[in-house]
Amino acid sequence: MNIIATHINYYSICHRKLWLFANSIQMEHTSDTVYDGKLLHETSYPQRPNKHSEIELTVHWHSLILQGKVDFYDYKHKIIHETKRGKSIEQAHTLQLKFYIWLFELNGIDGVIGHIEYPKLRKTKEVLLSRTDVAFLEETIQGINKLLHQKKCPETINSKICKKCSYYQLCYIDEV
Ligand code: SF4
Repeated sequence: MNIIATHINYYSICHRKLWLFANSIQMEHTSDTVYDGKLLHETSYPQRPNKHSEIELTVHWHSLILQGKVDFYDYKHKIIHETKRGKSIEQAHTLQLKFYIWLFELNGIDGVIGHIEYPKLRKTKEVLLSRTDVAFLEETIQGINKLLHQKKCPETINSKICKKCSYYQLCYIDEV
């Protein structure tokens, strides 16, 4: 089974969201709040696409395949640049970036750091990977694997983030 950054991101936001996504119920295109981060990056930092590379990372880890696709990687300074619109799910953004740094490490490339950029807020957050983070990621991936094999869809979480979620209508208006 392949685990990608979206799985990590959704697992930290809502288990139900991850389960729906993993079961091919994908509604991102219907959401007004979903914004293409790559497009945001390119419009906010127009020179970057020429200087930074897109990089795909794959690691065989236990019985799983871990995959990450970094849109903007600065080889010279070993910095992953991720651009986000807002900080409402900052924890999920941070974990996603730590996952990428870990994939670099597992591929034998140490010393990589991450920058989460919020151009609309004019803020940048530096992301580093600690050994505690690695243990947490390992635990998270085991949890994701278990969830992806679960037959029953997890319950709704009734959180304030639900109204911005692309599955809102499905979760609270239609029946799954
Ligand atoms: S609407 Fe809420 S409960 Fe449903 S998937 Fe999204 S975050 Fe989870």
